[in-house]
Amino acid sequence: MLIKKIENLASSILSELNIKTAPVDIKAIAKHKGATIKPYDLGERISGMLFVKDSDGIISYNPTESQVRQRFTIAHELGHFLLHKKTQDVFVDKQFQVHFRDENSATGQDIQELEANAFAAAILMPKELLMTEIKKHNFDLGDESAMKELAKLFNVSLQAMTFRMVNLGFFSLR
Ligand SMILES: [Zn+2]
Repeated sequence: MLIKKIENLASSILSELNIKTAPVDIKAIAKHKGATIKPYDLGERISGMLFVKDSDGIISYNPTESQVRQRFTIAHELGHFLLHKKTQDVFVDKQFQVHFRDENSATGQDIQELEANAFAAAILMPKELLMTEIKKHNFDLGDESAMKELAKLFNVSLQAMTFRMVNLGFFSLR
């Protein structure tokens, strides 16, 4: 699926729920889309899982990980649920990277991971909402403390926010 379509899917869900402020309530969104969310001790190497049964989804996340990681995991699993539930019933995610790997070297499964990450980034850090907050706080994106503030506002990791900003073309890494 094209990144553009994933962005559109995320923004249509946000408008369905009339979400206009950060941080985005990812658990409420997942529930709204038919997924049950539960913390589950997955062992330290596993961040999250998705089970698909009929058309329902059960998302498990690792409660021992940081809150920002838990939020990203739930968003990532919701991405699998919305985009890939027809392809398989069980998704297991090891401690994945939040950045986008090179799509040219990606296998079929990697592409699903890229898509789930793209969905997570789009739903947790919606472009319109980012632009609103940047303007409101008059953030200078070249300033690391501003990036940290922005990450805090959206309740995501600094790394996730940095990659989102780069992917949106808001700034480039030197
Ligand atoms: Zn995944």
